[in-house]
Amino acid sequence: MYEMHFAVPMAGAIPNTINTRLDAKNIANILKHSEAKVVFVDYEYMPLAREALRLIPESSKPLLVVIDNIYSPSGIHLGELEYEQLVYNGEPRFVPDEIQDEWDPIALNYTFGTTSAPKGVVYSHRGDCLSTLSMILAWEMGSEPVYLWSLPMFHCNGWTFTWRVAARGGTNVCIRNTTAQEMYANIAQHKVTHMCCAPTVFNILLQAKPNERVPITTPVQILTGGAPPPAALLEKIEPLGFHVVHAYGLTEATVPALVCEWQAQWNQLPPQEQAKIKARQGISILTLADVDVKELQTMQSVPRDGKTMGEIVLRGSSIMKGYFKNEQANAEAFRNGWFVTGDLGVIHPDGYLEIKDRSKDVIISGGENISSVELEEVLYSHPSVLEVAVVAMPHPRWGESPCAFVTLKKDSTGVNEADILTHFRNNVAGFMMPKKVHFMEELPKTTTKILKSQLRDLAKTKSQL
Ligand code: ADP
Repeated sequence: MYEMHFAVPMAGAIPNTINTRLDAKNIANILKHSEAKVVFVDYEYMPLAREALRLIPESSKPLLVVIDNIYSPSGIHLGELEYEQLVYNGEPRFVPDEIQDEWDPIALNYTFGTTSAPKGVVYSHRGDCLSTLSMILAWEMGSEPVYLWSLPMFHCNGWTFTWRVAARGGTNVCIRNTTAQEMYANIAQHKVTHMCCAPTVFNILLQAKPNERVPITTPVQILTGGAPPPAALLEKIEPLGFHVVHAYGLTEATVPALVCEWQAQWNQLPPQEQAKIKARQGISILTLADVDVKELQTMQSVPRDGKTMGEIVLRGSSIMKGYFKNEQANAEAFRNGWFVTGDLGVIHPDGYLEIKDRSKDVIISGGENISSVELEEVLYSHPSVLEVAVVAMPHPRWGESPCAFVTLKKDSTGVNEADILTHFRNNVAGFMMPKKVHFMEELPKTTTKILKSQLRDLAKTKSQL
């Protein structure tokens, strides 16, 4: 997949990396919608790819190229072509055509669709080039970094680190699974300097068994985003040898659009305060994107008081060209030239932005907006809590009220709903108190996010029992 980030655009084609967690039906829909001509499949995903291809009419079936082996262990012939053979038969002196226009598309990336059906986001050469260069400066990445691929390359082209690592003459350390053992072992063996990951990966690193852990001698720079990183986790991960920079973005913004740029004066603050500051999503730097928080009806900017919530909007070169073949979504996505993110936030007096919620996740209880992110922050400070998600559940009096889903650390015993509610009572205003706490073995997740839509349905069903 890494090689194809270069080879496919140079061949004048458009790469469309596909999320391997999707099911065959969604993959088939993406292949049909994008009019894919060739599909490259890693050996590990052959059964899934075959199922997806079966759902595509014969006349529009793409050519299948298998990476690794066209024969399965059972001897079944899996594809038409084998990747290394294709490369071997290629023209070594091939000269790519010049790009006609810097706004020409470079890549297509379907949003995972945690809040709606997948949409194909089109990126331009200009947008990806500028954001690649900006992030090199925004997140100190010196020459020859050693980059651990803990973030899948199918997420916005690995937040464009595919091109960034190459631009810095770096080394790619590719792993198949983001288990604690694989991550720690590879960090130690290859002397990893940089990695990107969603905050959920912090828990994997923190919960590693003693025999899986390897002491980290030189700090590993982590860029985290994709979901709000709880301050309590930020505080715990740094002493292990990781130095975290927090960024915010979304598929439509190519890569991180905001970075919580660190200021030297904050180094004097106690670790808990530093973690709180780092949990803010930050500012837009260089050419990443122009950002504002606006009241959507009037498109007026909210005051910089750290309290007034508004919709986060973005514009600039790194914002997508638009959704592929989806005029309706394009019309809804932009307002007065601004891309409307669907995230609600505040701007602090120092200009740093903080997300309070996704507009679809905010809980409206008796007319009051309750930020699920704030409640989750509180719960992460409970010593027995591993992961948490707070969602809206129907309430006969208040319309909606918060409902918490919690997974506990393996070594915690005897924690019940009353303990969790007491912890909330000690830390939040009465109207924000969750009315129900459910314990789960594991929360439903994508690679970067907890699937709140599923939990909302579950909260609703459970409230009717
Ligand atoms: P989707 O999940 O909608 O398919 P994305 O993977 O593009 O799409 O996710 C983008 C969303 O992830 C943002 O709109 C925002 O809600 C959330 N997000 C990303 N980074 C952060 C962050 N640092 N803090 C809080 N939320 C974030």
